[in-house]
Amino acid sequence: PPLYKQRYQFVKDLVGKYKPKKVADLGCADCTLLWMLKFCSCIEVLAGLDICTSIMKEKMHRLSPLPVDYLQPAERSLTVTLHHGSVAHKDPCMLGFDLVTCIELIEHLEESELKKFPEVVFGFMAPSIVVISTPNSEFNPLFPGVTLFRHPDHKFEWNRVQFQSWALETARRYDYSVEFTGVGHPPTGMENVGFCTQIGVFVRKHPQTSESAQSEKPTEGVYKTVTLFDK
Ligand code: SAM
Repeated sequence: PPLYKQRYQFVKDLVGKYKPKKVADLGCADCTLLWMLKFCSCIEVLAGLDICTSIMKEKMHRLSPLPVDYLQPAERSLTVTLHHGSVAHKDPCMLGFDLVTCIELIEHLEESELKKFPEVVFGFMAPSIVVISTPNSEFNPLFPGVTLFRHPDHKFEWNRVQFQSWALETARRYDYSVEFTGVGHPPTGMENVGFCTQIGVFVRKHPQTSESAQSEKPTEGVYKTVTLFDK
């Protein structure tokens, strides 16, 4: 399967393993991952966030309930909400999630946004699990014609040491453990370059107390709600 499908499948497998009830996808783009997660029966709340509304709106109709959802008695409720905003800003609508996914997002962040990102995701949102994927630059020589970055909108592409040292420092600061893996195997004989997409799975070490979540709560939101589907 194409690489993006392998990344989505990785997230689906993670959902199967940890059974989160509330999942937020940061940098959700055209909502394909959210649409796939709709079919995970453990999930009751899905939220998407992106800085670009036009891409979110492109195919978001797929997230609305299907006729069958109305015809069959619902064994669970599912609420899907899309928000317009930046991962560099805190908003209370992003509190209370069990799993936060950031798939191919961080390499699109400007330096100033990347600096704020850990405090927003790990410090403020503080979910039990965070998954972050990003290109592994060591794989790039295997792509014919890739000179600098895989995509013109990438602000950087990290090798494994760069990503892992950033992730380990972030995990240490916010009291998470992190494990590294990836998707997209290199061809035989080239195993030393690692996965095409590198992935960090962060697990919060201690359950969060309600007071620590409350004390951080800003009074006003900065994100704009794009749409809301309820079943
Ligand atoms: N996660 C999706 C996937 O894996 O298919 C889309 C990844 S796309 C390469 C990166 C997305 O991040 C884009 O939709 C872009 O608009 C969004 N993005 C870039 N900067 C952002 C920011 N500061 N806050 C939220 N989203 C952002």
